[in-house]
Amino acid sequence: MRVARVSGRLSLLTESGAVDVESTSDGRFGADPDTAFARWDELRDWAEDRSDRDAVPYPDEQLGAPVLAPSQVFAIGLNYRDHAAESGVATPSTPAVFTKFASCLTGPYETVRLPSDGVDWEVELVVVIGRHAEGVAEQNAWSHVAGLTVGQDLSERALQLAGPAPQFSLGKSYPGFGPLGPAIVTPDELANPDDLELSCSVGEEVLQKGRTRDMVFSVPELVARLSAVCPLRPGDLIFTGTPPGVGMARKPPRFLAPGTTLISTIDGIGQLRNPLTAR
Ligand code: ZN
Repeated sequence: MRVARVSGRLSLLTESGAVDVESTSDGRFGADPDTAFARWDELRDWAEDRSDRDAVPYPDEQLGAPVLAPSQVFAIGLNYRDHAAESGVATPSTPAVFTKFASCLTGPYETVRLPSDGVDWEVELVVVIGRHAEGVAEQNAWSHVAGLTVGQDLSERALQLAGPAPQFSLGKSYPGFGPLGPAIVTPDELANPDDLELSCSVGEEVLQKGRTRDMVFSVPELVARLSAVCPLRPGDLIFTGTPPGVGMARKPPRFLAPGTTLISTIDGIGQLRNPLTAR
């Protein structure tokens, strides 16, 4: 199942187009995508039994962030060995956790305003929680995941690294710093949800390319470790970290330029295309 926000409304994406969930379910489910996760299993059962006949084509521009009002957004720093190495730090022995404040979430094709000339790219697999998770064991973790989507953990490096203690959460939460989408894909749609190729590029130039099997802490491990402390609620997000190739680690460092479009891709899930403008 692929679930998206089309013209602001909860929709299933099929090969023939988008199916509006509220109208085709005769009001059984609401139109607000953020309300879907509390009844995720029910939505899946309903979606399985229906045909494509109510699907209508839609332009990409109608797609918004599939989640806009999560109760919590977790993000994991340094979760790929080679990214930790390029950042000049040891591989973490425990996840480095921060938050992206929810006001930074934006759609898969939205224009993002760069607040400075020091904004960096980080393509990431994003986990959407589908079931209340508290003290969940690793082997049961996937059953608490609604699905996976593509995210960008845009980062203003000067603010992120300013002061006596780094400001990861604030430096990564300017408006538009959390592009998300284009759809939430349930794990059963993917050949191997533990090994997905992810990449990001500007124009023809590939900036990052990696595989999620190289994460230091896998999706099940992250769900287990986070839910050991914080109860995870349906709709909560986990940005799982970025592979090597960020601009800050380059010599000389390099950052995003206005007038370009940042493209972020995860095979089997989809692609974000975010044009960038100056402040
Ligand atoms: Zn990140």
